[in-house]
This record gives sequence, structure tokens and C-alpha cells, in this order.
Amino acid sequence: MMISPETAVERLTRPWSDVLSPDETGLDKYLPVDYPPLLDMLNDACRNSVGESGGGAGGDPATRSLLNLEAHQLREQIDGSVRAWVSRLGKGKCEPELSAAVVQLAGMLQAHHAAKSIPETEYARIRSFFGRWCEQVWKIYEPPTVKELVGQCPNPDCNASKYKDAAGDVGAALIAFYVRDSSAVTAKCRACSWEWRDGQLRLLGAWLGAEQDDEFLDAVGL
Ligand SMILES: [Zn+2]
Repeated sequence: MMISPETAVERLTRPWSDVLSPDETGLDKYLPVDYPPLLDMLNDACRNSVGESGGGAGGDPATRSLLNLEAHQLREQIDGSVRAWVSRLGKGKCEPELSAAVVQLAGMLQAHHAAKSIPETEYARIRSFFGRWCEQVWKIYEPPTVKELVGQCPNPDCNASKYKDAAGDVGAALIAFYVRDSSAVTAKCRACSWEWRDGQLRLLGAWLGAEQDDEFLDAVGL
């Protein structure tokens, strides 16, 4: 995620979208995905998993509470830096809510820069924080997943269950790509390029039946 500080502030505080490349999804096309603000994702990551048993995709309880701890520490760290810089750069009160405080800090920084009341190096240093926070939150959030599905392609002209890719590696013909908490779920046969999305996914799930990992099928709505 190499992005400008302005884009970083937007991604932290407002809904955003990204376009995933064929390499990232294993599908033949570019796929747009909508995400909530990164700071909302971070809040979610803080809330999830502690004391919660099962539910949702994602790992054993130990891994989940570790992620939760990481999320808490990251939020504390971002919150602490934002408030420290806001109080150092301005006289007014810091916004109580973190995402409002991030926007406030970005605004103050621009105002100081325009008035030439901040050293250039300090300006550059604080501006670089926004992009770093984006990366740190993103790392905690579960990345998009491509999973191989067990079973035969329902296309009667295909029936493939295995597929050899360009590199010569043999894997499952059927794959599903999904992003947690989004509607970006697509399944595809790599052999014949049939695709399933939305309502068709359930048909594919029924066709593949019990051979599949239930938790995964639930998570992607298959
Ligand atoms: Zn097929």
C-alpha cells in the first residue's frame, strides 16, 4: 500500500475501495472491493475475539486473542501519537473521537505548512505517519483469501477437479476468492473459466456438498 498522506487520511477515516489485480485474486479480471474506514476495521479487530467463542472465519482462539491484543496496542499507539501531536501543534482541544482527531491533525499540519510555521523535516515526518498507520491496520486485518475447493466442476463439458497452472503446479480446478465482511466472493473453475457469484454460489456449494470445509463455506456464504 504505497499511498499519499492525503489518501491515507481518507482510508483511515472514510469508506474506500480498491481494485484487486488478477494476480491477487486468481481470477481473470480486476475486481473492485469496498472497505469500511481502516479505523473502523481496527475498532472491529479490538472488539472481536476477546471472550467470543467461535463464529466467523479466522483461526483458533489463541491466534484470535493475540490479534486482538495487537489491535488494542496499535489503537493505543495511534491514539497517543495523534493526541500528542494535536496538542503540540495547536491550542484548541483535541477531538474526542479518534478518526475526527486524525482529520484534525491532518488539517493542522496543512495549516502550519501553509503558514510556514513548522520545520520542513517535522512536517514530512508527521505526514509519513498516516501511511504507516494504514499499513499497520491493514496487516492486522485479515487479507483477501483464495481457497481451493475440493470437487469436480459442474460444467458437463469440463468436469475437471485438477488444474495445472502456467508454472506447472497442479492444484484444484475450483477456487473461491473472498474478502471478509464484504460481498466480494467469486468462485471459478480454472479449467473452463465458469464463474459463480451471488445466488449461484449457493448452487455451487450444494453441488460440492459435504466435501468442503463448513467454516469456510459459511464464511463465504456458499
Ligand atoms: Zn470447469
